[in-house]
Amino acid sequence: MIIQKLFNNVEDHNKSLQERVFVILTFIGMLSVFLLIFIGMIMGDNILNTLALVACFFGFLGVIIFSIKKRRVQTGATIIGVVLVVFLLPLSFIYGGGIYGGSPLWFIFGFAFIGMTVAGKRKYVLMAIGAIAMSASYYLAYMYPEYVAKHTILAAHMDSLISNLIVSILLVVMILFENRVYISENKLIEKQKEEIQKLSQSKSKFFSTVSHEIRTPIDTMVGFNELIIRDSDSEEITENALNIKSAGRMLLNLVNDVLDVAKLESGKMEIVPNEYDVINMLSETINMTYEEAHEKRLKYYVDIDPQTPKILIGDDIRIEQILINLLNNAIKYTNEGSITLSLRTKPMGPGEIMLVFTVEDTGIGIKKDAIAYVFDEFKRVNENGAKDVMGTGLGLTIVKMLTEQMNGEIQVNSIYTKGSSFVVTLPQEVVKSEPVGEITLEDLRNKELASEYRQSFEAPGARILIVDDNQMNRVVTKRLLRDTKMEIDEAASGIECLEKCANIQYECIFMDQVMPEMDGTECLRQIRQQMGGMNRETPVVVITAFTTGDDQAKFRMAGFDGYILKPVNGEMLENTLLRILPADLIRRTRPLEANQAGGKKGNLHKDRLPILITTESVCDLPPEMIEKMRIPIIPFSIRNKNGSFIDGVETETEGVLEYISENGNEDLFAESPSVQEYEEFFASRLDEADNVIHISMSGKAGGAYHIAMEAAASFDRVHIVDSESLSCGVGMLVLEAHNLVQAGFDAAECVRQLDKIKKRIHTSFLINNIDYLIKLGRINPRMKGVSRIFMLKPGILFRDGRGTLMRMFMGAAAKAKKRYIGMQFDTGRLIDKRRVFITHTGLTASELDDILRWVGDEMIFDEVIVQKESAACAAIHGQGAFGIIFLYEDE
Ligand code: ADP
Repeated sequence: MIIQKLFNNVEDHNKSLQERVFVILTFIGMLSVFLLIFIGMIMGDNILNTLALVACFFGFLGVIIFSIKKRRVQTGATIIGVVLVVFLLPLSFIYGGGIYGGSPLWFIFGFAFIGMTVAGKRKYVLMAIGAIAMSASYYLAYMYPEYVAKHTILAAHMDSLISNLIVSILLVVMILFENRVYISENKLIEKQKEEIQKLSQSKSKFFSTVSHEIRTPIDTMVGFNELIIRDSDSEEITENALNIKSAGRMLLNLVNDVLDVAKLESGKMEIVPNEYDVINMLSETINMTYEEAHEKRLKYYVDIDPQTPKILIGDDIRIEQILINLLNNAIKYTNEGSITLSLRTKPMGPGEIMLVFTVEDTGIGIKKDAIAYVFDEFKRVNENGAKDVMGTGLGLTIVKMLTEQMNGEIQVNSIYTKGSSFVVTLPQEVVKSEPVGEITLEDLRNKELASEYRQSFEAPGARILIVDDNQMNRVVTKRLLRDTKMEIDEAASGIECLEKCANIQYECIFMDQVMPEMDGTECLRQIRQQMGGMNRETPVVVITAFTTGDDQAKFRMAGFDGYILKPVNGEMLENTLLRILPADLIRRTRPLEANQAGGKKGNLHKDRLPILITTESVCDLPPEMIEKMRIPIIPFSIRNKNGSFIDGVETETEGVLEYISENGNEDLFAESPSVQEYEEFFASRLDEADNVIHISMSGKAGGAYHIAMEAAASFDRVHIVDSESLSCGVGMLVLEAHNLVQAGFDAAECVRQLDKIKKRIHTSFLINNIDYLIKLGRINPRMKGVSRIFMLKPGILFRDGRGTLMRMFMGAAAKAKKRYIGMQFDTGRLIDKRRVFITHTGLTASELDDILRWVGDEMIFDEVIVQKESAACAAIHGQGAFGIIFLYEDE
């Protein structure tokens, strides 16, 4: 029973290798211990040794039974490992004659046992313990030989020989066993691989069969529904029917998407290159998407490179599928504005060209960190922004797979909240290098409009045949074409069709592909070869829902003259007939409509700046400077007990200072914009420029650096630079950034340089009282009284983004200011004398005159800019503060 269980354990693939080795090793180990006891007894071995072995035997037996029963093989292996290396092996070494016996060999077995059966960190711990125990045993035997049992030379030789034999056999068994396991695992993996492959094949088959099964009833429903829409006089019924129509369309899209992914994954989606007309392809694409955009009141722009060759070789159907998917997404995820399809070409080798399609929209965009996932199966990102938008998350997966199958590439660029653009590049062969010339949206729409109508023609002289085993489908098709006044015959099978074809000549035959006994393709073959048949030349159009393995290209190769995907609608049938029927049989019932909507190309490429510098209202630059440099500014707010007010818009510095003089500035805070406000700000700026470099107030001094960073993470080209300063210190960095952009550096280089320049900005303030420091938590509020008495004024210096207390100035205001100014220019570093900023909160003209004079006494600057602090900075510094900001020379 136990032995049976034991072998079950060894063969069980669900058990780890270690567990299985444990079972086999312990079993063989026990057999050998048994053997050793037996030999020991014959050889008249030390009784203690024999007893220890017997104890071991039973002990191990207990452990092995326990671990197998309780399924705790690791515990069992650990116990045996410990007993082996800590007790058994050292003991048998000492009592087995030390190095003059067989025991040293058993250490090898001990280590091999631990190495192969114990898992994880325990293994190494046990091995270390084993090494220590072994070293200690050798040490003891060497230092105190009197404790080591003495054997006769014969006994020592016998012991060594027997141990050698047993250990060698054990090791060989172990290795053979591992080998066997390795081979059988490999076989198992191979088998599993095969099974997975089979599973995947049957999944694909299952999908296609199920989809066909699902599609047939949907087709019938959609068909009848269309008849209801046509015939209904009641608004309510029409509306309900329209809802059914859109739900039906969604269901079909889903089935088609799932099918396509299954096909692509199993490699069954073949790319079939053929000669095609670029304009036709584009026109079909646009007409498949235009209505949807029009209904959403989106502008639809096309911008086609006039040099694009007219006739190319490639799989136009797949290209269309890619573009339609991208355009549908653009429409789905755009609520206002426009979508644009553009096509550029890049010459490659002779006879080859690269098509570069761009589908651009002004929609909700995709967050930068989500961009990486948009191509993943079933992945829908931006769920918040597009909660009501239906989708499966398969569209882009298909687009990417198809593009790659055509040796193309796809790229996404998106500005979150502003829009996205998908660029697909596809190599194609050129048949005719004759260019398409200037094409407008109108041209492309009109091309299709020529055949876009409902009941748009009558052809009473024409006779057509509908071949379908499903009576419902025949009824729907027939009724959809009722108003064309054609004579319509029906056949319920291939045989019936051939019978009809032998006697009646048709102008067109609509053929269902999937029919019992004889399928559409076979029926077509027989029509073409029918002896005396009247329809050997008649155009035959296949109607199919079955898309796995036999898509449009295959039908084309089979010789069909057209392809209609179920569910059929009146438009499809009539469009096909218009193409096929002889012109003299057709009488138009509705004139062509001219398309009024958006044919112009629009302002696609308005002038954009390569880099735009932006900053916050705390930058404290004079308005003329900001205007001249065209720096967009995001305002901070000032919050007090009455609410929150936007800096410079809802409150000015004076108002803040007045509030401070009445209420103090304890409950007054400068509040940075929210992440969302930053996002909106950046998104609008990216409308004007390719890159935005935003200079923010020091994060460590309560600025919004981290908030701005969080917002910037949603965009690809927004760079945030922490000025590590505030007020004119931020302004100083903005000026430098502007200069760098003017000098033509790219965004990355500008950011790199700004990170260096900011370390050269000297920003310091003399603040009128210690409230600022109390607010920052640097000083105990109880110091307030003392500070008033001694008229303490802290001098604050910015270092690494943090305002640090440079020194407390004591005494009368004028003296303190003068001393403070003196200290600023005496830092031992070379000062850039081009410009100095003096910022202040509510100083009088005479106070400012004094300050200017004292600064002038210290150093002459080319430009001295006196700037009142913004309301936000005033809220931070309080009344009567002033600061000196300049740049150190680059050393
Ligand atoms: P879905 O069926 O959800 O549209 P897709 O695979 O086509 O699936 O797209 C995956 C996700 O990518 C969408 O859920 C959407 O969040 C995002 N996405 C795709 N195209 C756009 C776009 N033009 N604008 C914004 N988000 C888009």
